[in-house]
Amino acid sequence: MNKDDIKYVLFSEGEIAQIVERLAERINADYGGEEIIVGVVLKGSLTFSADLIRKLDMPIRLDFIQASSYGSGSKSSGKVKIKKDLENDIKDKHLLLVEDIIDSGNTLAGLKAMLKDREPASVKICALLSKPSRRETEIEAEYIGAEIPDEFVVGYGLDYDEKYRNLPYIGVLQPRVYGGGE
Ligand code: 5GP
Ligand code: MG
Repeated sequence: MNKDDIKYVLFSEGEIAQIVERLAERINADYGGEEIIVGVVLKGSLTFSADLIRKLDMPIRLDFIQASSYGSGSKSSGKVKIKKDLENDIKDKHLLLVEDIIDSGNTLAGLKAMLKDREPASVKICALLSKPSRRETEIEAEYIGAEIPDEFVVGYGLDYDEKYRNLPYIGVLQPRVYGGGE
């Protein structure tokens, strides 16, 4: 990993901590101590969820789900497949899906529709980041940490080609790394 691969730091460790704190405050206020299932959408949300759950004050069950969306080439489509499913039965339970970033919205829209079929008491979405300008599918996300412009970000769990997840900050990747112009 090369430090020059990062064009600039978008959110420092301290800024991320503030964003997570604000999200947790809202979530704590909304659920009022009721038990929730935290469904971590793997893998990018691992770091975010680890920080977030430590700020939640209701009883939680921690669970994991991994989706793969397939479309033409690298572009995601509306079709989503569950690669690794939740272990909990969510019927009549409150499910909070934790996602790293909403881009086109296709993955979460597909996931949410499939999970709603299991008749949970509620399904809400908490995403650390969102790129509203990239949306293809309208998706209602109750908790969004920060809206960002259309740039490819890595770090704090987010990868490019499985790299950079271990950066403690969130940075914009140099386009040359993924073959983009500059
Ligand atoms: P979408 O909302 O388009 O269905 O896909 C969202 C997924 O695409 C995210 O969960 C994430 O894995 C990936 N993604 C979208 N934008 C970025 C980005 O800027 N950086 C990284 N590392 N992943 C992204
Ligand atoms: Mg993801």
